[in-house]
Amino acid sequence: SNRVMLGPLVAAIDQGTSSTRFLVFNAKTAELLSHHQVEINQSFPKEGWVEEDPKEILQSVYECMERTCEKLTQLNIDISNIKAIGVTNQRETTLVWDKETGEPLYNAIVWLDLRTQSTVERLINKTPGRNKNHLKHKTGLPISTYFSAVKLRWMMDNVDEVAEAVRTHRAMFGTVDSWLIWCLTGGKSGGVHCTDVTNASRTMLFNIHTLEWDPELCKYFDIPMEILPKVRSSSEIYGLMKICSSLKSGSLSGIPISGCLGDQSAALVGQMCFKEGQAKNTYGTGCFLLRNTGAKPVMSDHGLLTTVAYKLGRDKPACYALEGSVAIAGAVVRWLKDNLGIIQTSTELEKLAASVGTSYGCYFVPAFSGLYAPYWEPSARGIICGLTQFTNKSHLAFAALEAVCFQTREILDAMNQDSGIPLTQLQVDGGMTSNRLLMQLQADILCIPVVKPSMPETTALGAAMAAGSAEGVSVWSLCPEDLSEVTSEKFEPQINPEESEFRYARWKKAVQRAMNWET
Ligand code: ADP
Repeated sequence: SNRVMLGPLVAAIDQGTSSTRFLVFNAKTAELLSHHQVEINQSFPKEGWVEEDPKEILQSVYECMERTCEKLTQLNIDISNIKAIGVTNQRETTLVWDKETGEPLYNAIVWLDLRTQSTVERLINKTPGRNKNHLKHKTGLPISTYFSAVKLRWMMDNVDEVAEAVRTHRAMFGTVDSWLIWCLTGGKSGGVHCTDVTNASRTMLFNIHTLEWDPELCKYFDIPMEILPKVRSSSEIYGLMKICSSLKSGSLSGIPISGCLGDQSAALVGQMCFKEGQAKNTYGTGCFLLRNTGAKPVMSDHGLLTTVAYKLGRDKPACYALEGSVAIAGAVVRWLKDNLGIIQTSTELEKLAASVGTSYGCYFVPAFSGLYAPYWEPSARGIICGLTQFTNKSHLAFAALEAVCFQTREILDAMNQDSGIPLTQLQVDGGMTSNRLLMQLQADILCIPVVKPSMPETTALGAAMAAGSAEGVSVWSLCPEDLSEVTSEKFEPQINPEESEFRYARWKKAVQRAMNWET
């Protein structure tokens, strides 16, 4: 057959909250050649609980690999051109499995899950001055339901199988990256138990200055260090793929897994925000604005997190970021679809909202999982206010989109205050950015231009770049100059700033009503 002649290729596994993707890029041009995507089921067994099935997550990765390999074969692209695989993942989501059987011991507790709210309140009450920032000097994080340590603690206290496995030294803890890398490198027969610095920095057990697990933090949460994965850089060979040879994707066997980044870090890399001060905002299930602060971790005075942005090589320095995290962005769209049924697909939302072009004074604060940045208030709950007889589902749809924009405005304001240097435009990506109305609304509410790359898969691109540039692979250069082909679209603000300020002030009023609902 006529094989298409290409240079080296690099693949990425992008395991997100709502879906899994496998993507293959040309390492010379960063062009996306082929990919496949599978949705992930979420279960809500009790109010505030969010779980996913670790086996389904793993299976979805295999399925995406298989389908993508089939597509490549149809395109006459030789799978053996793939030189490395990167992993990027939903962060904080917590798993425990048995290293002897390879079986998960409980469902994955998803980052959004609120079951640890009372544990968190108890921990905060125990700290001097009831200070939720008690561990911030080491972790960069407030004590919150969001991070892995409290979820792991909950499993050890409430799931007999987990407690037993910990006691008998059979338990392995990991975030989704660790679970996947362990399984894909052989699982119970020799799998590599590791994570990277960016994922580790979201557990609350990791010292972001020394870049090591912290014995004091582990003691604080009473977590044995032997169950933790080994922490590696974001770009190095962790192990080689082992995959059943009877499958098309069997040809991926032996390829090094050499990149690993939490999804938000990967998007920062994929958007080439390598310089201090550069920032990106990703609109997925939640919304995450990260700004590169260079070699030093900067502590926020305005409710932002300090996190490891990336460490692209064993001997390379770590780079840090300030992060504003919003729990509910795309998740509100899924809620309107699954819980209210006012739309059948996410794309319908845009049409519905555009049909009115205003929320008609309706404000929707989707504090389903409490409020994250800049408030960190676990007892906040969602609220819809400003309703009149006139309000209909189109206004509600519009208010939902506006909520995403207002929440971004709040974290951008915090970011500007912390750094003293206002951003003059915002680079964006993520599943929701295909919504053009949302992009225009965002520019209007921020009063700065919003810039969206034409290749939307920046998270996967970042993981592929980390994998392809790893020592021993070296098929990808991280120099942005090489990627002059990258094009983007710009949304300019179109309403006057007074109007924007008026709406934002109303939003803030609505937020105050959503706060402290549960206390
Ligand atoms: P994640 O990485 O968190 O899984 P993605 O970046 O894949 O998220 O984005 C998926 C999210 O974006 C879903 O929550 C979905 O509801 C939302 N979404 C996708 N398309 C649209 C659209 N056209 N308008 C609004 N929201 C959308």
